[in-house]
Amino acid sequence: EERAALGAWEGPGRTADGRPVSLLANVADPASAAAAAAGPVQGVGLFRTELGFLDRASEPSVAEQADIYADVLAPFAAGERHVVVRTLDAGSDKPIAFATHPDEDNPALGVRGLRLSFIDHGLLERQLDAIAEAAKRTGTDTWVMAPMVATVDEARDFATAVRARGLRAGVMIEVPSAALLADRMLAEVDFLSIGTNDLTQYTMAADRMCSDLAHLTDPWQPAVLQLVALTAAAGQRAGKPVGVCGEAAADPLLACVLVGLGVTSLSMAVAAVRAVGARLGAITLAQCQEMARAALAAPTPAAARDAARSLATAQR
Ligand code: PEP
Ligand code: MG
Repeated sequence: EERAALGAWEGPGRTADGRPVSLLANVADPASAAAAAAGPVQGVGLFRTELGFLDRASEPSVAEQADIYADVLAPFAAGERHVVVRTLDAGSDKPIAFATHPDEDNPALGVRGLRLSFIDHGLLERQLDAIAEAAKRTGTDTWVMAPMVATVDEARDFATAVRARGLRAGVMIEVPSAALLADRMLAEVDFLSIGTNDLTQYTMAADRMCSDLAHLTDPWQPAVLQLVALTAAAGQRAGKPVGVCGEAAADPLLACVLVGLGVTSLSMAVAAVRAVGARLGAITLAQCQEMARAALAAPTPAAARDAARSLATAQR
């Protein structure tokens, strides 16, 4: 019966009582964007631009970048759907030959993501030119966000550069400092997107690639949920979108908790969308909020999961 319900779910994302939640896809290149566009998604919440450049020895020209980005944007040009393009997140777990800062003792804490633009500002400027060109060429509603933002100054400078090109600007919340400053970040940008993979890594001081620390790199950790909660609450105060684009969004139970915390969109691998959409569509916003309260109050990730699970199935 659950399989039948899963197959039947067609979107758009909403709770059983009709609260809309944008369900979006994570994509990496034109092929994954085309696959996502065929699914029941309301757009792309995370286009990881660096993943197309993992095998590149040198930086693609602005013209070549614009062609690649246009191929990703084009399937979403029609209708209401938008695409969130993330600027290069090079470094640490995503080494890019032409961008990654070499010889660092602690690459995860080094010059990665937006920080590369402190060293080579042209790299970011050229990428933004290419994104703007692709947006113009395809007519797609294009938003641009920066990874690894830690300070309000970074958010302001990034937003200035993006808006100069006529696009909507946001930042990822992946560093605890950024979550703690969510209100001030929102004063500078149009939207936030919480990257729970890195937010968990940096909150728990546990390498996301280290399988021995999987109990720490768990987005159900109470400290991580607290930071998500205060970021989502800041979004509600500001009346601006706050999404989640880390793996947490693909866990149907956690997705309900995130919605209960006030998150307005969930972006995930397209294969996960139907399960999340079906789960969300089976419970009310009030239930999501109860699940969120219980998960926040739980002492451990396991207790948070158990509390959320029992509330998701108990009452209707
Ligand atoms: C994240 O950190 O949660 C995220 C979405 O970005 P990435 O996994 O690409 O670092
Ligand atoms: Mg990240």
